[in-house]
Amino acid sequence: MTAPLLHMILRTEADVFVVRQRGREVAAAVGLERQDQVRLATALSEIGRYLLNDRDLTAGAGAEFSFRVEAPILHVDIAASPAQRKTDPPHIGRLVDEMTVHDGPDGTRIRMSRRIPISAPALTADHLAALRDDLAASAPRTPLDEMAGQNEQLLTALEETRAHRDELARLNAELEETNRGVMALYAQLSGELEETNRGVVALYAELDERSAQLRAASEAKTRFLANVSHELRAPVTAVIGLARLLEDSSSDPLTTDQAHQVKLIGLSAAELLRLVNDLLDLAKAESGTIVPDWAEVDLRAVFGELRGTVRAMATHPDVELVVLDPEPPALVRSDAVLLAQILRNLLHNGLKFTVAGEVRMTADNDGDMWSLRVADTGVGIPEASQDRIFEEFYQVPGGSPTGATGTGLGLPYAKRLVTLLGGGLTVESRPGEGSTFTVRLPVGGLSGGSA
Ligand code: ADP
Repeated sequence: MTAPLLHMILRTEADVFVVRQRGREVAAAVGLERQDQVRLATALSEIGRYLLNDRDLTAGAGAEFSFRVEAPILHVDIAASPAQRKTDPPHIGRLVDEMTVHDGPDGTRIRMSRRIPISAPALTADHLAALRDDLAASAPRTPLDEMAGQNEQLLTALEETRAHRDELARLNAELEETNRGVMALYAQLSGELEETNRGVVALYAELDERSAQLRAASEAKTRFLANVSHELRAPVTAVIGLARLLEDSSSDPLTTDQAHQVKLIGLSAAELLRLVNDLLDLAKAESGTIVPDWAEVDLRAVFGELRGTVRAMATHPDVELVVLDPEPPALVRSDAVLLAQILRNLLHNGLKFTVAGEVRMTADNDGDMWSLRVADTGVGIPEASQDRIFEEFYQVPGGSPTGATGTGLGLPYAKRLVTLLGGGLTVESRPGEGSTFTVRLPVGGLSGGSA
C-alpha cells in the first residue's frame, strides 16, 4: 500500500470544515476535475458530520482520514471508533465512484474511491512525494475561510450553469434557424421536383400521343400499300396476258416493230407485277397478318427443295451454286414455307450479285440456335450500305453486275419474316470479295409462338 498523501484527525465540528477543505485540495492536486473536487469535498464533510453525530470522538483518538493514490484511483480511508447511536451513514454513493462501510466491534472502516481522469498529469512516485510535501507545508484555513471558499465555488458553479444555459439557448436558436432554412429549402426543392414531374408527365403524354400518331401513320401506309398492290395486281396480270395474246402465233401477225414493242410491254408489265407482289408481301408481313404455321421442319428437306428450284434459275456460267445439307437430324421448329422464302431470297441475291466463284448455303447448329448462311464471292456491299440494305427500296448504287433488276424490297421482307420466326438476319461483307448473310433461328422456335 502506498504511503498516504495526507493524514488527518477529526474530533470537532470545526474539523469537518478542515477535512472538507483539505480533501478538495488533495483532489485538486491529483488532477480531479473541478466538479469532482467539489463532489469529493461534499462527501467528506457529510461523512465527517455523520461520524461526529454517531459517536463521541473527543475522548479517543478521533476519526482518522487518510488520502492515498493507487493510480489511477484516489482512495480516502476513514477509521473511527465503534458507532454508538447506530444511525445509518449518509447516502453519498453518487458523489464518489465507490464507497464501502464496514462496522465492526473494533470500529468503523469507510473507504471512498474516485477515479482520476486520464487527462490528469501522470502521478509518478516523485510527483506524489512532492504533493505530499506541499500538502504538509500548506496550513489548513479557518472555517470562515472555508465558508468563503465554498461560497466562491458556489458562485462559480452558478456562473458556469448560467453560461451553459446561455450556450444552450444560443444553440437552440441556431438549430431553429437551421431548421427553418432546411424547411424552406425542402419546400423549394419539393416545388421544383413537382414542377419537373409535371413536365415529365406532360412530355410522356406527348410522346405517347406521337407514338400513337406514328403507329397510325405506319398502319395507314401498310394498308395503303396492301390495297394499291392488290388493286394493281389484276390489271397488270391482264396486261401481261394481253401482251402474250398479241405475241401468240395464232393472232394476227405483227410487224417487227410491233412485236418488239409488245415484248417490251410484256417485260415491263412483268416487272411491275413483281414489284406489286413484293409490296403486297411486305405489307402483309408488316400488318401482322402473316401467322407462322409452326411445325417441326427438316432443314435437309428445305435445302433439297431450294437446290432444285434455285438451280433452275438462269445463273452466270462461271458461278456454282453449292447447297450443303446439314447432318441429320437437322430439325427446327419453324414455318417451312416462310423459311424457304427467306433462303430463296438470299440465294437469288447471291446469284444476282456474283459473276465468278460460288454461292454456298450451309447450316450449323450450336445447341440452341441454327445458323443458316448464304455466302457468295460476288461484288460485296460497302460498309456504309450494310445497314441500309434492310430498308425498303434501298439498293446499293451501281446495280447488279449480272444486269438483273430488283425492287429493293427483298431484304426488308426477308428480315421481317426472320423476325416473325423468332430469329435475326445479319450481313457481313467486303466489297470485291463477297457477302455472307446469316439467318439465326432458335431450334425450339419462337417461345410462346409455337403453341
Ligand atoms: P433487290 O435485290 O430486289 O434490289 P433486296 O432488298 O433484296 O432488293 O436487296 C437490296 C440491295 O442490297 C440490293 O439492291 C443490293 O444492292 C444489295 N444486295 C443484296 N444482296 C446482295 C449480295 N448478295 N451481294 C451484293 N449486294 C447485295
